[in-house]
Amino acid sequence: MIDECLGPQRSRKIQRALRHLKVTILCLVLTVVVIRGTIGAGKFGTPEQDFNEIRDHFNFRRRAEPHRVLEEVQTTSKASEEQAKSDANADGNNYNAFDINKILIDEEDGDSKPDPNKPYSIGPKISDWDEQRAKWLKENPDYPNFIGPNKPRVLLVTGSSPKPCENPVGDHYLLKSIKNKIDYCRLHGIEIFYNMALLDAEMAGFWAKLPLIRKLLLSHPEIEFLWWMDSDAMFTDMAFELPWERYKDSNLVMHGWNEMVYDEKNWIGLNTGSFLLRNGQWALDLLDAWAPMGPKGKIREEAGKVLTRELKGRPVFEADDQSAMVYLLITQKDKWGEKVYLENAYYLHGYWGILVDRYEEMIENYHPGLGDHRWPLVTHFVGCKPCGKFGDYPVERCLKQMDRAFNFGDNQVLQIYGFTHKSLASRRVKRVRNETGNPLEVKDELGLLHPAFKAVKLSSS
Ligand code: UDP
Ligand code: MN
Repeated sequence: MIDECLGPQRSRKIQRALRHLKVTILCLVLTVVVIRGTIGAGKFGTPEQDFNEIRDHFNFRRRAEPHRVLEEVQTTSKASEEQAKSDANADGNNYNAFDINKILIDEEDGDSKPDPNKPYSIGPKISDWDEQRAKWLKENPDYPNFIGPNKPRVLLVTGSSPKPCENPVGDHYLLKSIKNKIDYCRLHGIEIFYNMALLDAEMAGFWAKLPLIRKLLLSHPEIEFLWWMDSDAMFTDMAFELPWERYKDSNLVMHGWNEMVYDEKNWIGLNTGSFLLRNGQWALDLLDAWAPMGPKGKIREEAGKVLTRELKGRPVFEADDQSAMVYLLITQKDKWGEKVYLENAYYLHGYWGILVDRYEEMIENYHPGLGDHRWPLVTHFVGCKPCGKFGDYPVERCLKQMDRAFNFGDNQVLQIYGFTHKSLASRRVKRVRNETGNPLEVKDELGLLHPAFKAVKLSSS
């Protein structure tokens, strides 16, 4: 048939070529069989598995015998070349093996040192802030400082160091803590600001909040109250709305007791881990009076000695913002006292040590929305230093109890959606009600889905 079509000579040529091709194919098949026999995936292997194993085989040899890399890699295809490259970087792709200090450039030393003879200033002197702010509010009626009757516009401010935590789990706890605050703020119509910038190098550490607070008050005249909250404090009552009406004549609200501050001069008579500051000239003046003990170095150290000497129960350490506040109130009570509200009817700040072991008892006997010892608004892990290297308490107790506090608060968020943590110690959740085809008819127990305190009243104009 081929002879007929192509003529005898050409036909012989083609048959010879075909024989050559057969031999070539046979050789190829034999090669594959031999390779599979030694390094292949066996009779259950798929072509893909084969390819991977062969590739791994070469890579293994390449790592074991670096001198052979060039010869062998050159013979492989473009794809396996790419693979080889990424394998060579395999250690570089490993986050666990990477030393974070390689990219953390410590820039602090490069900053110009402040003049020790120049008194510290937290910012340019402003003495007519009330007038400036009132004018702005009048000109910007779409940004009212009250968003409802007795409902001030509030900005919750918190933050942490610009650097990663000094221990490997610290940042995870910061994440839990900010998630917890975002939840509370969303449920209560509060704005939130998380700061990670050191705005003023002299006011590092717990003093960093002062320049930050001043900047935010001045930039946001629409904010009526700024609520500072430490990163190691968590909301444990998601249903408690602050009694705003009670503070109508106050400019600073902190958890504390008048007797402990003014009579005892106790350094823990109040806590500056969670407080409210009303936007106005009074706040700027207070910040001016509060800041002078803050600049780090000699000033902060010397001031620390004064505070330890003058205050009851204070250990020896550099000046901190809380002691400085107690000292300011006791030395200048006439100037500030009238506008300072020391709240203890509920836990605006609650010391964790007296609360965390009672969560089960609270669940047994009470319900969210109370805010006090029956169901604390805030649990503050004072002294735990979850982002630092050393704290004042055993790490295991701190972390375990922070998880419990987080889950205790989180259960109130999850119940809205029909879930709860399996226990206060568990990350895992379980369903507490069945799914329904009428989701809008489901009412959440605490009324947090559409709480009255979050409702927006549109003006009729
Ligand atoms: N903080 C900050 N930047 C820093 C260090 C601390 O904003 O560089 C904040 C952080 O929110 C922290 C608070 O300052 O929670 C006070 O410190 P801490 O809570 O460790 O003090 P304690 O409450 O234990 O006395
Ligand atoms: Mn704290």
